[in-house]
Amino acid sequence: MNSRTRVLVVEDEAPMRKFLRTALSTHDFEVYEAETASEAMERITTQPPDIVLLDLGLPDGDGIEITKKLREWSKVPIIVLSARGLESDKVQALDAGADDYVTKPFGVGELLARMRVAMRHRGEAVGEVKQLISAGDVVIDLARREVKARGNDVKLTPIEYRLLVMLVKNAGKVLTHRQLLVEVWGAAYANQTHYLRVYTAQLRRKIEVDAAQPKNLLTESGVGYRFRAPES
Ligand code: CA
Repeated sequence: MNSRTRVLVVEDEAPMRKFLRTALSTHDFEVYEAETASEAMERITTQPPDIVLLDLGLPDGDGIEITKKLREWSKVPIIVLSARGLESDKVQALDAGADDYVTKPFGVGELLARMRVAMRHRGEAVGEVKQLISAGDVVIDLARREVKARGNDVKLTPIEYRLLVMLVKNAGKVLTHRQLLVEVWGAAYANQTHYLRVYTAQLRRKIEVDAAQPKNLLTESGVGYRFRAPES
């Protein structure tokens, strides 16, 4: 690898963050950190890491939820770090899409070995992953986080991007307000439909020819939104 591997450490406990930062920097990783679930999502979308080390118990959410949300659009290797050694927690984390689960306390050697394995597996899988998705006038390159509408580059905020990816991945299907709010913003926002009104209006200004008469991002009155199917 010509540049250093970027590790995002998602952990609310300062001593644990410090331990990981010290251990990983020594082994030539570039380390950056998030203390909360929302900060983690923000950092992952703005500075995509090569691997994520994820604590399960965060002040504003659960690592399992972050994993599920991330797997909607990202193949980044995720290793869950948790003090909970329960079998059911491990199964939940792996089912949600985590690559591995390490129980605290752990040794640096063990963690590094598991990180290598997770990155190798994901590296092998990259060629099989569909990197481009498209529907209507929009093409999204998931690996590069680039969006084009009718061939023109579109600059999106992280929230706009996540919303659009979810809509395009489900093109042709109606997504309810609740589904969109929970997936893009999180369970605590399930009833904030005004967020959706604001963000769909912003998206339409960026991707539609005429935002007042959208041909791609369609409103399903009283239910939710639907993105134009690929073949229509
Ligand atoms: Ca914690």
